[in-house]
Amino acid sequence: MRIVDLIHRKRDGEELSQEEIAYFVDGYTRGEIPDYQMSAFLMSVFFSSMSDREVSALTECMLRSGETLDLSGIPGLKVDKHSTGGVGDKTSLIAAPLAAAAGVVVPMISGRALGHTGGTLDKLESIPGFRTDLTMDEFKSLLAEHKLAFGSQTGQLAPADGKLYSLRDATATVESIPLIASSIMSKKLAEGIDALVLDVKVGSGAFMKRQVDARRLAQMMVGIGRRADKRVQALITDMNQPLGFAVGNALEVMEVSQTLQNAGPTDLTRISLELAARMIFLGKIAPTLDEAREVAQKMLLDGSGYRKFKEVIQAQGGNPQVLDRFDLLPNATGAREILSPRTGYVSAIDAQYIGQASSMIGAGRDAMGDAIDPAVGVILEVKVGHKVEAGGVLCRLYYTNEERVEDAAQLIEDAFRISSSAPEERELILEVVG
Ligand code: URA
Repeated sequence: MRIVDLIHRKRDGEELSQEEIAYFVDGYTRGEIPDYQMSAFLMSVFFSSMSDREVSALTECMLRSGETLDLSGIPGLKVDKHSTGGVGDKTSLIAAPLAAAAGVVVPMISGRALGHTGGTLDKLESIPGFRTDLTMDEFKSLLAEHKLAFGSQTGQLAPADGKLYSLRDATATVESIPLIASSIMSKKLAEGIDALVLDVKVGSGAFMKRQVDARRLAQMMVGIGRRADKRVQALITDMNQPLGFAVGNALEVMEVSQTLQNAGPTDLTRISLELAARMIFLGKIAPTLDEAREVAQKMLLDGSGYRKFKEVIQAQGGNPQVLDRFDLLPNATGAREILSPRTGYVSAIDAQYIGQASSMIGAGRDAMGDAIDPAVGVILEVKVGHKVEAGGVLCRLYYTNEERVEDAAQLIEDAFRISSSAPEERELILEVVG
């Protein structure tokens, strides 16, 4: 088998066999196939896509490249939730405690900020003392005791994905439906789950800008899960404006605390409750989805989800008091108001621009391995549909270093559209797949 022939065939839109994909991916993971050949292959996939058979074969190779968690010793169905990435998307920190409080076992292994999108691990690590670098044994014992643990993808789980992901990041091949689907599903299947709820984001702040592409991605992931005998459901949700009001790590933890106390933004509460309900349903805690929705609501209203989050923060070395005393979280030293240039209705808040601005002032990374600044970010004062006066505050930029504030403020100004008439209301949850 010659690598150049495989690239050639993929480039021309042919289907590769399972053995051919395994030969390529295994060889690359062992360091026997150079980056330039894998880069050419990734670009061929980007343009030619992959069949369902190919995408399952790729997922299987990445899954086999490392260890898999065996959670069979912990009673109960294991259900995780994963988002394809958004701006202000802190739903994992709300849905997971709600589902765990209801009795679902939630092994949550998350990622870091990527491009303009945020990462659950970075948000959690803004809580002083919180540890996400758990060993597999620590992860399992936390899960057995609390039904919820937040871990990171170590080199042991799907290492081929880690290696391929870095290469994709550097070769403009991230936004490929089969590559995203196999990347996410290889990690999730390595976690030893029984079921998975996916939040596939669509819109300006998502990797998928068009609903037709988000639907294809959702169908592909649901299909991979089904072929691996897992129950998978995907929600396709709007990411044209940031979710909630807060963007930035510690700022988002504050909003999570408010939401778990039933005082959060409507859009964030709605999506988090629906995700939690589906986790509760797939975890067979409730026999129907409607009953699962009632359970999720109860876990929110009676404070069980909030207490569960505190319990897990404490168990993972963090200070749970931060949820009541925001002064214990990292706080920014400077703030800059962005004002409305005219009176009218907010008709758009481009989530990608807001994510980029927040990342630029330190909430995200320019390069892998860069340190992030947990305190900084953006708090929106308005959302799409709100009325604003000329000179009224649209949002506040919180920073600790002034260096890139001017550029970030410019991006934020460009993100807002103010129109003379109210925009049409958009659906938040657009479709369900699976
Ligand atoms: N998240 C992942 O884990 N992988 C991708 O390819 C995109 C988002």
